[in-house]
Amino acid sequence: MTAESLAITHHPARRPIRELPDELISQIAAGEVVERPASVVRELVDNALDAGATEITIRLVAGGVRAVVVEDNGAGIPVDELPLALRRHATSKIASLPELEAVATMGFRGEALAAMASIAEMALLSRTANTPHAHRLDARSGELTPAARAIGTSVEVRELFFNTPARRKFLKSDSTELAHCLEAARRHALGRPDVSFAIWHEGKLVLQWPRASLNQRLRDVLGGDFDSASRAVDARIGPMHIRGRAGTPEAARSRTDHQYVYVNGRYVRDKLLAHGIRSAYEDILHGQRQAAYVLFVDLAPDRVDVNVHPTKMEVRFRDSREVHQAMRHAVEAALAPSRAMATPDSNTPSPSRSRLGLPSDAWNQGTDVPSRTTPWQARLALQDAATLYAQETSPTWATAASTTTTTASVPMPFTAPTRAPSVTDDIGATSLQATDHATPAWPLGRALAQVGGVYVLAENAQGLVIVDMHAAHERVVYERLKQQWSNASLASQPLLIPTPFAATPTEVATAEAQADILRRLGLDLSVLGPAMLTLRSCPATLAQADGVALARSVLAELAQFEASHVIEQAQHALLSTMACHGAVRANRRLTLDEMNALLRDMETTERADQCNHGRPTWRQVSMKELDQWFLRGR
Ligand code: ADP
Ligand code: MG
Repeated sequence: MTAESLAITHHPARRPIRELPDELISQIAAGEVVERPASVVRELVDNALDAGATEITIRLVAGGVRAVVVEDNGAGIPVDELPLALRRHATSKIASLPELEAVATMGFRGEALAAMASIAEMALLSRTANTPHAHRLDARSGELTPAARAIGTSVEVRELFFNTPARRKFLKSDSTELAHCLEAARRHALGRPDVSFAIWHEGKLVLQWPRASLNQRLRDVLGGDFDSASRAVDARIGPMHIRGRAGTPEAARSRTDHQYVYVNGRYVRDKLLAHGIRSAYEDILHGQRQAAYVLFVDLAPDRVDVNVHPTKMEVRFRDSREVHQAMRHAVEAALAPSRAMATPDSNTPSPSRSRLGLPSDAWNQGTDVPSRTTPWQARLALQDAATLYAQETSPTWATAASTTTTTASVPMPFTAPTRAPSVTDDIGATSLQATDHATPAWPLGRALAQVGGVYVLAENAQGLVIVDMHAAHERVVYERLKQQWSNASLASQPLLIPTPFAATPTEVATAEAQADILRRLGLDLSVLGPAMLTLRSCPATLAQADGVALARSVLAELAQFEASHVIEQAQHALLSTMACHGAVRANRRLTLDEMNALLRDMETTERADQCNHGRPTWRQVSMKELDQWFLRGR
């Protein structure tokens, strides 16, 4: 509504009830449909696609404020229907309510052209296959004149809001409006790679996307790197089919600008869908970082109402919970497989096995696993952070790792295979030496050394692997805790000597109020007095972490939540805090066996590519890159 129409006189004389003039109704409707030039682009391209166009050209002047012209090669509008096209609630797309419910087209309200005609100078130029030439209809004068044009339609919308100055004032600079127009075009282009688009601004071609495969269109529109920094999504969950690509955390952005979701082919901006997707990233995306994705959701038209809002960007689902979960699971499944496991030339089966409920080391028995075995090739569980921590209290251990005497008191799953794979039984010990310099077949390779107390270097078939050991180990521990938590509770290990410690009143109150959850987390705390707690057991996975520090962090997290909500709200935060306590610290010297055990654990851990904060945990430097560094031709 315009500012003028809101003017109020002091003693309004009562006026008789009248129907609003059509022109005014259209202007009101226009306020909902047409906000800025980009809305015009959106509606006109919708219409062109509905008319079956395969080539669409958008011409803009002054960011679209002076002119938006959309030309298509669709079916065209018969000359006798041209005037109807501009009438409100005139549409060729639906004739009945059942049809409205089953509508598969982009636009269906019969409002857009009428709305635009009420707030802009407008003309339609169209030709169908049945006429030898085109006709041009001037919206203002209603004048119909013959014109030259190939089959298809051009719609011109000039001087937007010329007759509603208050609205025109809300427009931003031309370059801002242009950016919005380009974004509107992008949304269409990503949804319809089979249609070619060209966009001109003031006589210059600014964007051009030839018809292409979906992946090629994604590259064209979002940049070539989106491809390599995203994973394919393709999941049928309940009544929904969800496909497209989800960006890895490395492709995350500071803004939500690369988030595209389509429901039955229509671009939507929907909180429920966005939230479902966001929750798939919650463990791997840091703070305010925004995931990049292009996802297409298809479901039966009767399960979704697209008629909620005039701009058709909002939708309502019949079963919103189902939709939310489906989005989450589809994206999670795409992101979860560790990149290490997905290395194309690795022989290891995909990690989806663990999703099928097979034991995590079942794949070790596969026949394509190399038949030679070396200590690092055995599946050496980095069972507990305990083992890594143990070393901090026995500094000689690192150098004496190969002798068993000094380490007898420490649980050491690193130095001996937990199980000799049966396929190796006939090979004998001599092959151990022989394979020392063979290229290891493990995706993350064989550990070579530690650098700066922070990085582990390893060699695999592709070249050099560099691992951030704290980040990687934190992820491994976190996933293990999550696993235990979802099964029932974290395995708990009683302390030999219970540890009393001074506590704040809040800590004491929290320990009392949330004893059940603490126990499920593997922490047994008893109240010794108003300012004293005793720690009696710790999670077994974190047995060697500083138990009191761990308990304090967990109490601090728990204090923020009401007991009844902790499970839903805080579990991931809690487990991630605990994992951080349990992960090996920087500057810890690791033995080769420990490093190898970490690599093997990463290979079998879902999402091992990113630490809990979304930073990468490892990088590959290929032989080719190494050769290039040293100008070595091959
Ligand atoms: P709706 O798209 O909801 O039907 P519009 O006001 O956008 O309403 O368009 C009115 C009618 O004009 C459409 O139903 C269609 O028949 C016709 N029309 C509009 N644009 C085009 C086009 N580019 N090609 C062919 N027909 C068109
Ligand atoms: Mg329309």
